[in-house]
Amino acid sequence: MTGILTGKRALVTGASSGIGRSAAVALAAAGAQVALVARRADRLAELAAQIEADGGKALARVADVTDEADASQAVRDAAAHFGGLDILVNAAGMTQTGKVENADLDDWRYVVELNFWASLYTARAAIPALKAAGGGDIVNISSTAGRRAVGATFGPYAASKFALTAFNESLRAEVTLSGIRVSIIEPGATATEIHEHIKDAGVREFTRQHVEKDGAMQPEDVAEAIVFVVSLPRRVNVSQLVIRPSVDA
Ligand code: NDP
Repeated sequence: MTGILTGKRALVTGASSGIGRSAAVALAAAGAQVALVARRADRLAELAAQIEADGGKALARVADVTDEADASQAVRDAAAHFGGLDILVNAAGMTQTGKVENADLDDWRYVVELNFWASLYTARAAIPALKAAGGGDIVNISSTAGRRAVGATFGPYAASKFALTAFNESLRAEVTLSGIRVSIIEPGATATEIHEHIKDAGVREFTRQHVEKDGAMQPEDVAEAIVFVVSLPRRVNVSQLVIRPSVDA
């Protein structure tokens, strides 16, 4: 496939579903070779086959990005496979709920581990390859919950996304003069399977209705925004981008 990203080498975490999956498809459609990272091997293999059948190039790499060694090695493996790396998209994430009083601390820790620490692990491993390529892009997928913590039950999620924003901005300042652009994209409700992994049945159903409501964005919409920020002229860095359903007042 040829397109605006022909010759670019990308890695997408969370590529087995939702926003990450759509991002991988869109990057490949724009011409990039894409490494697909997540835990579910069957889904990655199916997506890699689909991208290749459409004329693209994909590498399925199973990894748990909350494991620092696994996450870092996945980045290095992708760079070795493609002969370099130009784009890292951190889309692996989840939401889990919990209040502070009587909090399940393991739940809080895991959400922060996945939504914040994992992006640090992959970015840290990617920087040498991005520098070697003469520059590149790191795109972190946050949420509108990274701007405003709404309600009592989404504390772990909001905390993880606020941390991601702070990390994003400090990383941007660190690497921008090396030609590495760092962007954070903050979507609102997007129809994915994110709700399926929420433990609390009531919150799971509330979240399902939220992300599947009439007028919710589709993961392809967020994927377009990702392709947009990495395709702009190198002098432009979209450092923060909020993207919401038009039906949200
Ligand atoms: P999905 O549940 O559809 O996708 C989550 C992805 O993360 C899956 O590919 C999953 O793959 C992967 N993942 C989860 N845990 C791990 C892990 N330990 N190691 C590697 N991969 C992992 O959700 P979304 O697409 O909706 O979410 C993607 C991002 O978008 C998240 O950061 C989320 O916070 C954010 N977001 C989503 C919104 C929405 O309304 N849907 C709104 C705002 C932001 P696997 O299970 O195979 O490992």
